[in-house]
Amino acid sequence: MSRHPNYSAQIYEPKKCWVGESQKIIYNTREEAELAAKVAEYDHHLTDLGVYKCEYGNHWHITSSTRRKE
Ligand SMILES: [Zn+2]
Repeated sequence: MSRHPNYSAQIYEPKKCWVGESQKIIYNTREEAELAAKVAEYDHHLTDLGVYKCEYGNHWHITSSTRRKE
């Protein structure tokens, strides 16, 4: 089997994950995602940002708050 020469370098690239047609930032832990969500809420005056575990990998994403509650 052939080993990709740049495999180890990919670990240090900015981590993004394709979700649907957009890329989302990857957070390694729930705490990291929740902290980022709080910062985004403060910076952009958003509410109801949440975090969820990605179905494609062992990491977390922030949910957007564009959906209206019923
Ligand atoms: Zn993901």
